[in-house]
Amino acid sequence: MGGLTMNTRVNPDFEKELQKYGKGNWNECFHCGNCTAICPLSEDGFLFPRNSIRTLQMGLEKKLETSIEPWLCYYCGDCSETCPRDANPGELMMALRRYLTTRYDWTGLSKKFYTSAVWEYAAIAIIALLVIVSFLVFLPLRPDAALMVNESGGVMINSLVAGVSPDRFVTLIEYGDWLMAVIVGGLLITNIFNMYYKTIIADKTVKIPLSAYFKEFWQLIYNFVTQASFSKCEKRSYWLGHLLLMTGYTIMFIIVVVFLPYFQIEEVVPVWHWQRLLGYYATFGILFFLGIVIFQRLRKNPITMKFSHASDWIFIIMLALTTLTGIILHIFRLAGMVEATYYTYIIHLAVLVPMIVIEVPFSKWSHLAYRPFAIYFSKLKLATLKEKSVRKLAPAIS
Ligand code: SF4
Ligand code: SF4
Repeated sequence: MGGLTMNTRVNPDFEKELQKYGKGNWNECFHCGNCTAICPLSEDGFLFPRNSIRTLQMGLEKKLETSIEPWLCYYCGDCSETCPRDANPGELMMALRRYLTTRYDWTGLSKKFYTSAVWEYAAIAIIALLVIVSFLVFLPLRPDAALMVNESGGVMINSLVAGVSPDRFVTLIEYGDWLMAVIVGGLLITNIFNMYYKTIIADKTVKIPLSAYFKEFWQLIYNFVTQASFSKCEKRSYWLGHLLLMTGYTIMFIIVVVFLPYFQIEEVVPVWHWQRLLGYYATFGILFFLGIVIFQRLRKNPITMKFSHASDWIFIIMLALTTLTGIILHIFRLAGMVEATYYTYIIHLAVLVPMIVIEVPFSKWSHLAYRPFAIYFSKLKLATLKEKSVRKLAPAIS
């Protein structure tokens, strides 16, 4: 599904270029159609992955750039496992998702990060350094920090910095969070608009009526919250793991960005308090999934883990470091270790901030937004086409 008139320019080197985003023997495909037949998510109108392989072999870069299909794949690996030519069509869909992320991003940074790990490491290091320097210069540890322990022996985290009251400290961090959320959210929204432009507006074959946007809107929310499409795959454990991870870091993000004053308080709350329970759920969800993924990527098994792009490892390492420094911070706090709490807090932010700033709008984390939007856009197209064919049939029937 997609407009052909604007997409017919051929780029014979596109397959070579795409190898920067993922590895596969895609030219080996002889179009038996096995992969599409076995894919649980492929449907009339979106016959992937064979469709995408064929478009790639023809060098139709523009057509792939306007395709939604790569986002409809959840990378279960069934197609790659059954391909008689070992062409790895699942990895093609993954490579295309990385490539499309760079095409939606108007700043050009995403392309730099996806095609050069050095660029991504450098950006992470610069942002981390900025966080550390800002703390040490503007929010240094107070000289009498040893006194900052409450009756239950826990460190009073908001009272550790010199010359700033606890309330003011939380407000400062909260403002920083909001600033980050506005920048990151703004970039992501503009990228989503770019995706919308390429996949819907530029496709002259389907004109979506306004009413369809409202009628199908629930698909966006439903698929974001439940990742329901993934549950159609045979290996339902993949869906569960993904859901655990997604809910884990979404909860963490909401707590940190929206509810920080309720979360970062001086009092050490009991273990069954909602605040600690949410934190434990998110930590468990993230670590459980990461543990499995790290093990599988090192073993290069299953097939979906055979090839790891640098961005996969950077995402895993950043998320693991953020979670581990969060756990260590929690332990130091409970143990009443004042200086260790202060410095770990800085290190935690020095990992968390670059992870969010780089990963959400420019790299792997952006798929959390692109995927539900792609499903929403695909439903818009399908609903419009269905409506059109019903209208065509109606006079014939009457
Ligand atoms: S199963 Fe393999 S050879 Fe057959 S169409 Fe899919 S990618 Fe091509
Ligand atoms: S990896 Fe799974 S979801 Fe993706 S195209 Fe292959 S079979 Fe379909």
